[in-house]
Amino acid sequence: MRLDIITIFPKMFSAVLDESIIKRAQLKGKVKIYIHDLRSYTSDKHRKVDDRPFGGGSGMVMNAQPIFDAVKKIKREARARVILLCPQGEKLTQKVAKRLSLCKHLILICGHYEGVDERVGEHLADEEISIGDYVLTGGELPAMVLTDTLVRLLPGVLGDKNSLNFESFEGNLLEYPQYTRPADFRGLKVPDLLLSGDHTKISSWRQKEALKRTKERRPDLLRKIKKGDK
Ligand code: SAM
Repeated sequence: MRLDIITIFPKMFSAVLDESIIKRAQLKGKVKIYIHDLRSYTSDKHRKVDDRPFGGGSGMVMNAQPIFDAVKKIKREARARVILLCPQGEKLTQKVAKRLSLCKHLILICGHYEGVDERVGEHLADEEISIGDYVLTGGELPAMVLTDTLVRLLPGVLGDKNSLNFESFEGNLLEYPQYTRPADFRGLKVPDLLLSGDHTKISSWRQKEALKRTKERRPDLLRKIKKGDK
């Protein structure tokens, strides 16, 4: 997979891209990530990338020109699906992440200020993605969230591919509770069954716990199972 991220804060990304699984995925050649400074694409002599909103109102709006030009330049090298990070977009879920993880090349556009000139969403982006019903200062953190979610789904990125099969949201269930050593931590004991070595019983305990937890915390997911949603 190739990811091109367009931002006015390129330095924000190193903290996430140069650590942990995303770093290893890049070293293993599973993903190539390029960060583009939007200011290098502006035709404004003061490197401005925003302006006052037509019709008045508070804040600034990001200009269409540098964003269109950045995407055009990146697309010259390779075809790509263009995503605008936007609180008004489709909500990011594991299902959406799985769909996007099948794309070979994505361009992520990070907005800032009051947002982005509407013509970007309408005429340039193939889709808009939100990471949740709250408003962040910019699209950088959402782009990092999306990148992390996608990269760990790529084949060969996680050491044990089974860890994806038992994760929360797989089959619309939350994951069962996990414990590690010591078996008795200050009087708080791990369920005996997990120490029994009986893998059939452990597996059915985990299934039951996953179902119980989902019922308690996310009954909306159980309704999806009933409807047959994947
Ligand atoms: N005025 C906009 C509104 O009310 O919908 C919010 C703009 S927000 C302050 C600036 C930028 O942050 C957005 O253009 C978008 O790129 C990003 N952003 C903020 N919250 C987001 C979210 N929940 N999901 C994805 N992107 C978000």
